[in-house]
Amino acid sequence: MDNQKVALITGGGRGIGAATAKLFAQHGYAVCINYKSNSKAATSLAKEITAEGGYCITVQADVANEADVLRLFSTIDDKFGPLSVLVNNVAVLQTQSRLVDMSAERINTVLVNNVTSAFLCCREAIKRMSTANGGAGGAIVNVSSGAARSGSPNEYIDYAASKGAIDTLTKGLSLEVADEGIRVNCVRPGLIYTDMHSDGGEPTRVDRLKTKIPLKRGGLPIEVAEAIYWLASDSSSFSTGTFVDVTGGM
Ligand code: NAP
Repeated sequence: MDNQKVALITGGGRGIGAATAKLFAQHGYAVCINYKSNSKAATSLAKEITAEGGYCITVQADVANEADVLRLFSTIDDKFGPLSVLVNNVAVLQTQSRLVDMSAERINTVLVNNVTSAFLCCREAIKRMSTANGGAGGAIVNVSSGAARSGSPNEYIDYAASKGAIDTLTKGLSLEVADEGIRVNCVRPGLIYTDMHSDGGEPTRVDRLKTKIPLKRGGLPIEVAEAIYWLASDSSSFSTGTFVDVTGGM
């Protein structure tokens, strides 16, 4: 693994994560595709990347679970060596609901999957990247959402609030590790065509709302992946604690 940069994409088997994993592989990164349960999607993506001449592994791990996160990072240590980039892409969405009908169980599921997971992955990445620990530095890109700004009333305030937490994590952590060779930035996608909207109970949500988007269309996973890649790459070397909205102007 001499000189090859290493990227971990959490939730990299499908949607925005899959487009990101593919893009990093095309740019020569050794890519770890993490997934939770859809091994078929992750394996098929890995085959595609390998067929294009890329280098990747797939690792099943529930990143909301601390023991799984430790296993995920030590697998990367063993198979690839030092991590250069972490993309915190995982999130879950529950069925559209007003807050008045939300159970504590639902709220906690959203927070642990969308927030705790990112904190745990950042912690393990920093241990390895920090120049204060003898690491070579690195870049973390968090995937938030335009929902952090809109609040998603009548649909999923819990999800929107979890993304607000990701924005705050980005800001605070970027300052905490700025002099340790680590940049921490964030991409906030808008309405993007992925399976996530089916989890929210409305598979055609992007098409229903696309006329409200100034660019008058939904976004594609690759359009988000390009922003993530830029923030992880040396092309954005003077940017940290910053946010790129990929929302079609919304
Ligand atoms: P998606 O198609 O639903 O894919 C989610 C991915 O996350 C899947 O690969 C899934 O694994 C994985 N995952 C979920 N929980 C996990 C866990 N605990 N541990 C490990 N993996 C887990 O989602 P997406 O639409 O691509 O969204 C990606 C990111 O963009 C999320 O942060 C989302 O909030 C954000 N975003 C999306 C939109 C949009 O319109 N799509 C808009 C704004 C922000 P399995 O494949 O194993 O199930």
